[in-house]
Amino acid sequence: MKITFLGTGTSQGIPVIGSKHPVCLSTDLKDKRLRVSVLVEWDDYAYVVDCGPDFRQQMLRVNCHKIDGILFTHEHSDHVAGLDDIRPFYFRQGDVPIYAHKRVIASLTKRFDYIFTTENKYPGVPTLSVNVIENKPFMLHNLQVIPVNGMHHQLQVFGFRFKNFAYLTDMKRMEAVEIEKIKDVKVLVINALRIEPHISHFNLEEALQFIDQVNPEVAYITHISHLLGFHEDVEKKLPQHVFLAYDNLQITI
Ligand SMILES: [Zn+2]
Repeated sequence: MKITFLGTGTSQGIPVIGSKHPVCLSTDLKDKRLRVSVLVEWDDYAYVVDCGPDFRQQMLRVNCHKIDGILFTHEHSDHVAGLDDIRPFYFRQGDVPIYAHKRVIASLTKRFDYIFTTENKYPGVPTLSVNVIENKPFMLHNLQVIPVNGMHHQLQVFGFRFKNFAYLTDMKRMEAVEIEKIKDVKVLVINALRIEPHISHFNLEEALQFIDQVNPEVAYITHISHLLGFHEDVEKKLPQHVFLAYDNLQITI
């Protein structure tokens, strides 16, 4: 299985528009973060987790020709706003499968009503094949995906386990029974926004505690704000098996 980090930034991305913060002005490419998303590939399959406002740029950047579907963690804009840009995939492949909680589907239906409408559809509008997921395992072809439930302040969010890889973002709380589902995975991805606490995201300290609980071989941190600091500085302070993810990082599991 090959994982490509398409984006590792928080909702505004890094740099933030107009910001004079030193991290936003950094020339280190690892400090440039598009909105959070990963591409998960195995055999001939390619799935994207989330489809934020940078989706088009991300697909161009990794030269992605085909996707087999999109899994959504939740309905916040930084995770869904790029849905219209699935059009090239739709034109080539037909209906694009999406997988999401029924609440997320309802939100997408409102937001992208012209995509979901079945009457008088404007020519060129993409069509989706909608798969509602619950908090129980489902199959993508030959691979079982295990959803993991967490809370993003008051909002339910899904993380996903694909074999020995778990991808979790926008988490602030998680019940022990959910953590149990990802215990001892080889590779864990988890969000850490910044050093200071935040109402709906783990800060770095909380993410490190969470990594200890899950006990993966290796962990990568994502959904990063400029307030976390320079990539190079932060990474030096992390435990040996914990790394900051960065855009275009690829790992094979
Ligand atoms: Zn987010």
